[in-house]
Parts: sequence; structure tokens; C-alpha cells
Amino acid sequence: MFRAVSWTIPCLLVGGALGWAVLAGSISEKARRLHFSSIVVDTHDDTTQRLLDGNFDLGTRDARGSIDIPRMREGGLNAIFFSIWVPSKVTGAEAVKRANAQIDAVLGQIHKHPKDLELATSAAEVREAHRQGKIAALMGIEGGHMIASDLGTLRHYAARGVRYMTLTHSGNVEWADASTDKAVHNGLTDFGKQVVREMNRLGMMVDISHVSDKTFYDALKISKAPLIASHSSCRAICDAPRNMTDQMMKDLAARGGVIQINYHVAFLSQEFRNAETANPGINRTIGAEAQRLCGNDEGCLLLEGDRLTREHVVKGKLPRVEWTKIIEHTDHAVKVVGADHVGLGSDFDGANMPYGMEDATQIPKITEALLQKGYSESDVRKILGENTLRLMAEVERVGRELSAAPKR
Ligand SMILES: [Zn+2]
Repeated sequence: MFRAVSWTIPCLLVGGALGWAVLAGSISEKARRLHFSSIVVDTHDDTTQRLLDGNFDLGTRDARGSIDIPRMREGGLNAIFFSIWVPSKVTGAEAVKRANAQIDAVLGQIHKHPKDLELATSAAEVREAHRQGKIAALMGIEGGHMIASDLGTLRHYAARGVRYMTLTHSGNVEWADASTDKAVHNGLTDFGKQVVREMNRLGMMVDISHVSDKTFYDALKISKAPLIASHSSCRAICDAPRNMTDQMMKDLAARGGVIQINYHVAFLSQEFRNAETANPGINRTIGAEAQRLCGNDEGCLLLEGDRLTREHVVKGKLPRVEWTKIIEHTDHAVKVVGADHVGLGSDFDGANMPYGMEDATQIPKITEALLQKGYSESDVRKILGENTLRLMAEVERVGRELSAAPKR
């Protein structure tokens, strides 16, 4: 989920040059075979907001948005983390209530589509769902404010099947600083460190997307399990605080972690980012118009924000960003940390997608592009999902070990 701190509206845009041509319908037989025999995992999707709208159902192909079962099938997306998200400004009991309603909505869809979806709470369950020809549905909490500073609430989410928590969203929480807010805690507080330890014990992945650099390093130091950046890209290419520096990626990888590349145009393209900075009024205009059309319906706000952004691109007010920027970031990350530490975390249905990656049907182009760049089939499989599954299994192993340890 992309959100500026002070807004209620998603923003953003797109820019760019023409990438090399890989059309979803025209990928090579080799890429097709590799892609559709791999377990393809996406660690961050905001489609959950749409589930709150009674008119949307994952089983029906939709012309809007990026994710539904037919399009996941067409794009070979086998495992998806549904993001449980409420804005940072919503806190306490209200945040907990809304998070639980979203978990209910995800579980409701799994219940409604038993032939297509299977709840997965471990790497082994993802593999089993894949073996049965089903899409593994997983959940991640996007923002530590949803535990209301209570470890019991964290345990409650874990018991309901949530398998990662992003420590913050856009704004600071009471115990951790965010990357897009003014630092007040100097990283993690003592309670924040307790949260990380408890997540380790529960076998939940500690997600450092959205946190400040200092919070990242505090979490890295305290965590007994490797960390995940569920939806972040490379700061060396696009200087956004939400992205990771090369050094951060190296430190993440040295402890076994994985960076999952985010497709949001303002995290992919410096040109786009510069255009936003040069004319902040555009985002305000888009935000106000989306609010007028949607009120506080978050699912609607996301879709309208994306549509209005593209209107600005068409009018030449914002640059056009091509999907090949995803490959550029992926390749950069692989060059810095190796193919064992990079994956995919799209931010579909929560951000502005580049041209050519509008929805899940386009994902096979990533496989084709990586093969065209000379990646081995084994490395492509790792990036598509195996790295995430290895990370999950390791986090689960640490959790079992800590749970078995005598209480001190
Ligand atoms: Zn996000």
C-alpha cells in the first residue's frame, strides 16, 4: 500500500521510455514452461480493501484493479499475501476491529472459493496448495499500529493465520519510526524490540518495508530470524525513502533476508518522482478528486487514484513508466545481493502500476525478461517464489526453536 503520511488518498503516477517488447501473449515456450511450473509468490497485494465492498468477488474477472482468481490463474500467480491495512491515523480498538474485519473478508473468500483458494500459513502449506492446483492465500498485517501496542493482539492475528507484520505503515507507531514520518523513537523502542522477539517466537516474518532506516537496523540486530522487505525497491535507482540502499540490502541478505521488488511507479522511476516533487499540486488534485468520487471507501480510492493518475500521464503532466523498470530494479538487487535474496512484492491494488504490468496476467513477462537477460532457470524460480518460501521456512524453524526453549 502506497500512502503519503498526510493523505487519505493513494497517489501517483507513471513515467517513461519505451521498454523492450515482451507481450504477455507472446512469451517464449521456454519462459512459459518455466513460469507455469514454478511457484510464483507475490508478498504484497492490497486487494483486501476491495473485498470490503460487497459487490466485489475474487471469483469474477474484473475489468478494474489487478487481482482476481481468473487473472491470477492466467498469470500463473500461485501464492498471494493479502495485505491487512488500515491507515496509520486509525489506531487503538478501531484499528483492531477493522483489521479483524479484513481478515474475515479474506477468510470469507477462501471459504467461498474452495476449489481455487487455500489458506496457507506455512511454506509447506503453500507447496501443498500448489500441488493441489490451488492458489495459496496468505495474509500480512501492514502496520504495527493494528496491534494497539498489545502483544496479545499480535498473537491473536498470528492465530488467525497472519504470517507477517510490517512494523509500521506511513506514520510512526508508538514503538517504531516509519520511513515517511519524522523520527521520534530513534528506531525501535524497548517495546518495539519485544514485538520483534514475539514475532520471532510466533514464526511471523518481520517486515521492514515502510520502516525508517534506523528501525530496519534495530530490527536486524534484535531479530533471531531473517527479515523480509515485502514490497520495497532499490534506492540506488529511485531515491525514495521506502526503497532500500545497496548497503541495507547487503545487510538484509547477510542475515538471510529477501527484498521483494515493489512495482509502484514512484518507487521505480526517479523521473516520475522528480515530476511529483516539482509539482506536488498534482497529487493533491488527484487525491481531492478521488475523495469526491469515493468518500472514505478505500477500495474505490485506490482504483480511482490510479485511474486519475493515468489521466495525468496521458495529458503529459506526469511521465510514463514502463514495466521494464521492475526488471531493472530486480537485476540491480541481484547484482548487489545475489539471486537468493530477491523476490516480488507488487503492491497490486494499492499503488500505481507501470504500463505493461496492469494486472496479474502480465507477470509471465517478468520470467521472459529475466531469461532474456541470461538468468538461469533456477535463479528465475528463486526470484519468482522459492526465496520467499525458503525465508518462510526458516522463520518457522526459528519460531519452533524459540517456542521449545525453556522460559527464562
Ligand atoms: Zn505499503
